[in-house]
Amino acid sequence: MPSTRAQAEGIRVNTKRRFLPRFKNRCLAPSNVLILDFRLQISHFKKTARMKIEIALKELQNIVIGCHQCPRLVDYLKEVSNHKPRRYRDWDYWSKPLPSFGDPDARVLIVGLAPAAQGGNRTGRMFTGDRSGEWLFNTLYQFGFANRPNSSLRDDGFKLNDVYITATIRCAPPKNKPLPEEIENCRPYFLKELDLLKNIEVIVPLGQIAFTQTLRILRQKKLGIPPLSFGHGKVYPLSNGQTIVTTYHPSQQNTQTGKLTRPMFHRVFKLVRRKLEDGG
Ligand code: SF4
Repeated sequence: MPSTRAQAEGIRVNTKRRFLPRFKNRCLAPSNVLILDFRLQISHFKKTARMKIEIALKELQNIVIGCHQCPRLVDYLKEVSNHKPRRYRDWDYWSKPLPSFGDPDARVLIVGLAPAAQGGNRTGRMFTGDRSGEWLFNTLYQFGFANRPNSSLRDDGFKLNDVYITATIRCAPPKNKPLPEEIENCRPYFLKELDLLKNIEVIVPLGQIAFTQTLRILRQKKLGIPPLSFGHGKVYPLSNGQTIVTTYHPSQQNTQTGKLTRPMFHRVFKLVRRKLEDGG
């Protein structure tokens, strides 16, 4: 029985992309020894490069966590943790800017809007412990991008595979509505992440604001991008070889009204998986 939707739909999910040398107790001819040596060097180089990216991302996230550039949001986060709803009254809220997270080798970048006040802002990890996260994580699992279908705590062993998640702003805004200047303040972090994540092939902005901000950042990186319209399930190949795949945001407002259904959301990630298997 197929265990994920990707397998059920016959999509090849390559979760082991890294090279593993195999000796099989055989004597190797000199030419094979040279090839093996070369491959080991490549493998070592890749591991070192990955470690450097991980360290740079960690350093960036430490800066993010200490950021106080948006006074309205800093005050709001304090207010949220001082007025917890009954169901979360025993929680020690994170109430700081949220770091992005995921696989440093990721080929897929998911761009959210902003943390939810009672979700990511409570648990300390983007999309963790909120309804949008339930949708997103379950779908990522179905298509082989996560090791489990849900996550409600930031240290529960949930891991992303080939996916990195970031957001246009990292502090929960009142009524989920960031001000333009707050998005502006946070943009350099997003830009830096795009520089550090070297393997991104597909970008999936969740919703129109994330889509607009993604285009703005790519234009800032001097990519010639024509005017593109937002809609659900659109695919836009870019001149740098990356592809944008659009979707409505899995917010409760969209999922409870039927604007976004699970089959619609799955179709987007089926497209993403196909893009990766086709080589971008
Ligand atoms: S939204 Fe971004 S720029 Fe503003 S305080 Fe939070 S982390 Fe800093």
